[in-house]
Amino acid sequence: LVERMRPFGTTIFTEMSALATRTGSINLGQGFPDTDGPPEMLAAAARALQTGANQYPPLPGIPALREAIAGHEQRFWGLERDPGGEVVVTAGATEAIAAAILSLCEPGDEVVTFEPYYDSYAASITLAGAVRRPVTLRPGPGGRYGFDEGELRAAFGPRTRLVLLNSPHNPTGKVFTRAELDLIAALCQEHDTYAVTDEVYEHLVFTDAAEPHVPLASLPGMRERTLRISSAGKTFSCTGWKVGWATGPARLVSAVTRVKQFLTFVNAGPLQPAVAVALGLGDDYFTGFRDELQARRDHLAAGLTEAGFAVQPSDGTYFVTADITPLGGTDGIEFCRRLPERCGVVAVPTQVFYDHQAAGRHLIRFAFCKRESVIDEAAQRLSKLG
Ligand code: PMP
Ligand code: GLN
Repeated sequence: LVERMRPFGTTIFTEMSALATRTGSINLGQGFPDTDGPPEMLAAAARALQTGANQYPPLPGIPALREAIAGHEQRFWGLERDPGGEVVVTAGATEAIAAAILSLCEPGDEVVTFEPYYDSYAASITLAGAVRRPVTLRPGPGGRYGFDEGELRAAFGPRTRLVLLNSPHNPTGKVFTRAELDLIAALCQEHDTYAVTDEVYEHLVFTDAAEPHVPLASLPGMRERTLRISSAGKTFSCTGWKVGWATGPARLVSAVTRVKQFLTFVNAGPLQPAVAVALGLGDDYFTGFRDELQARRDHLAAGLTEAGFAVQPSDGTYFVTADITPLGGTDGIEFCRRLPERCGVVAVPTQVFYDHQAAGRHLIRFAFCKRESVIDEAAQRLSKLG
């Protein structure tokens, strides 16, 4: 293994899912739903499989899917995209993130991001020979996460190539506020950098969130310098399909596509028409999905509070973060490794998503994208912890 990849062991998701299987625990670690997505989408995939959509699709994705992605961005976020050159389909958001960084960063370039960060960010930045400059998110009054403006300003410098922003944010459940986005946008323009936004949880912002989700690309001056990334995995409960996309100005999408063609070339043919169908579902699908997840969040958060955790607010995503300090825990990694034997539940230590690990040592993340009965059972088991 090349030296620069040696610090990257097995991902925490693989480790914790294996632990769940080995111990027969309820897996609230890795974020994946335990029910299938919309039946219209599943039926469309089955039809496509049986009617000859089984060879290489076009490099940027089938036209129907690119049109559906453009239509979806227009409908929900008011962003106009030309399906002919401003949309590319990828192997999940993960490939889009990797291809964006690999196509935009020279070795030694710097990427400003926020920690805790989704684990593929550090690896993709390292693969490109670039350098990450993480700004630490910290709980503010009321428990919602924020960051220090001075710290963000200081992270920008002459080698900054892009800002990699995840909102709604995994693992904190933070939705970046308009004021925060305005500051990020101003710094991108001041330093003439690109922005890459990971918006895979765009439809999971709860009705009691402090602020709505706003794509950075929709702010003045940002469309021309922003690549917006999303995925069908979360919105349509099909994380195993790995159908994602990047949208943006043609020159950025063309850069991503140049790299993407040598990573995977194209992606699963029969799933593309099915995701096109899903993106076209009525608004009630999207709000119903959000309401369902919000109820699960409330259910799990109540169980965690009952069990003695200090639960942090979650405005969006699949996740809620809990402080283990009231239960006598100090190290989330050790706590999560022992949780299955203590009560038959698996969670993920948040600490592994930080460079400055001390900031997240006492935090663990639970996924609530699970059936009501599973959350109920997990809450029962966790209540035995105290
Ligand atoms: N970004 C974030 C913030 C995520 O939580 C995830 C995955 N769960 C991804 C990217 C990867 O998405 P995909 O499975 O579509 O590659
Ligand atoms: N995105 C999911 C999570 O954060 C899982 C990702 C993965 O398994 N690589 O849990």
